[in-house]
Amino acid sequence: MSASTTLPTVCVIGAGPSGITTAKRLKQHGIPFDCFEASDEVGGNWYYRNPNGMSACYQSLHIDTSKWRLAFEDFPVPADWPDFPHHSQLHQYFIDYVDHFGLRDDIEFNTKVERAERRPDGTWTVTLSTGETRRYDVVAVCNGHHWDPRTPDYPGRFAGQLIHSHAYNDPFDPIDMRGKRVIVVGMGNSGLDIASELSQRFLAERLTVSARRGVWVLPKYVNGMAGDKTVVPHWIPRKLSLALTRRFVRKNLGDMSNYGLPEPDHQPFEAHPSASGEFLGRAGSGDIDFKPAIAELDGHTVRFVDGTEIEADVIVCATGYHISFPFFDEPALVPDEKNRLPLYKRMFQPGIDNLVYMGLAQPMPTLVNFAEQQSKLLAAYLTGQYRLPTPSEMSDTISAEEQKYLGRYYDSPRHTIQVEFDPYVRDIGKEIERGRKRAAAQGFSVPVPARANAEQAAAV
Ligand SMILES: Cc1cc2nc3c(=O)[nH]c(=O)nc-3n(C[C@H](O)[C@H](O)[C@H](O)COP(=O)(O)OP(=O)(O)OC[C@H]3O[C@@H](n4cnc5c(N)ncnc54)[C@H](O)[C@@H]3O)c2cc1C
Repeated sequence: MSASTTLPTVCVIGAGPSGITTAKRLKQHGIPFDCFEASDEVGGNWYYRNPNGMSACYQSLHIDTSKWRLAFEDFPVPADWPDFPHHSQLHQYFIDYVDHFGLRDDIEFNTKVERAERRPDGTWTVTLSTGETRRYDVVAVCNGHHWDPRTPDYPGRFAGQLIHSHAYNDPFDPIDMRGKRVIVVGMGNSGLDIASELSQRFLAERLTVSARRGVWVLPKYVNGMAGDKTVVPHWIPRKLSLALTRRFVRKNLGDMSNYGLPEPDHQPFEAHPSASGEFLGRAGSGDIDFKPAIAELDGHTVRFVDGTEIEADVIVCATGYHISFPFFDEPALVPDEKNRLPLYKRMFQPGIDNLVYMGLAQPMPTLVNFAEQQSKLLAAYLTGQYRLPTPSEMSDTISAEEQKYLGRYYDSPRHTIQVEFDPYVRDIGKEIERGRKRAAAQGFSVPVPARANAEQAAAV
């Protein structure tokens, strides 16, 4: 950690894409920090077979966000990348980013944050997997939210093998899927990918997808271009742009029943988008069957809520993730049972001025470089160039923005942290200006005092 005595010290938890870009911003602003990474390398989710067991990558995974949207602002992606790079290319990009900006020595690898506790004086005590305890003024949570599998607990007993998609690596690992009757539960992006992969006739004997409701399966390409490259201009009112996009999707995809799938009970973009270049073709070719939600398991028999049943050998649950912060004991710091954790600008809890959540969002179309934008506000905040509003103003804004960002999605634990990348980034820019005026009124004093270093030294 560098030795500024006036700026607060920060504990950055995690060195995935969110953690490394946060660390870079802190370093550039001379804000002292330690970054702890549980694994032996950066990259988080994009580190296939990550030895920390937290990556959900499967061997064939290509990112659904195009290279045009995922790049960090000041670190272009390699010119020879395809539109939708493979996970190994992304992982190398993150390694290169860290080395290019000289961050490697700032990250303590193979070091997990086991506990982070708020002390009565407001500073943090952080306990590491090494057994060491350190004191910080601020905690920046960058631990990701796609690693703690949410697996359904079905009534009955299954005689086959049931795994979460998090454990799926390829058609032979951890289960040899050849000749098996496979059910993939869920039609999110992982579900569509894994179902498409296993439905090839030389792999699973039969591939069924089970889901509570139909979804709109969006293409990765539109008019020969990466779909997320086409952006409706921001001066078009939101309602109109949504209506135009919906009409475009309906016109170009047609009815989902044309592919042998159920009609969604919602409009396009009332759910986090599921995209696949393969799935509809396989469903339309009869390689994928559809069933509604699983009601019960009985030996190899799987019964569905419509009363039908099929025999299965393997169930792959692509059923999403819990948002988890195992290092926090305080209930106020973790999401409630509905997966809700309301945050000001998806970063701060009203009334807690020295805890920040980075990348804790489900932004469309990209999460990869989302924290990079948030880190601008964080750096301004920790250097006294930005002030938060009062806690009650923060709460009011949270309610208004939840309505703005979440209002159009159907109610589900899956949709508690949805945002749209571009409007969010525009707003963060304006918010930094608003906060700068508040900071000016405070004489640009640093809002979080730098106390932890002195207290730690005194305690030794
Ligand atoms: C199958 C799949 C496909 C995806 N596809 C896309 C996509 O197309 N586009 C997109 O934008 N996003 C996608 N994502 C989302 C993905 O989470 C983000 O792209 C990105 O990895 C988020 O970065 P992060 O740094 O916030 O979290 P992570 O990548 O999860 O990194 C978190 C890091 O924190 C570390 N860590 C965790 N806990 C601790 C601790 N206690 N102490 C120390 N270190 C800790 C972990 O080891 C890890 O390195 C996908 C996710 C999955 C699972």
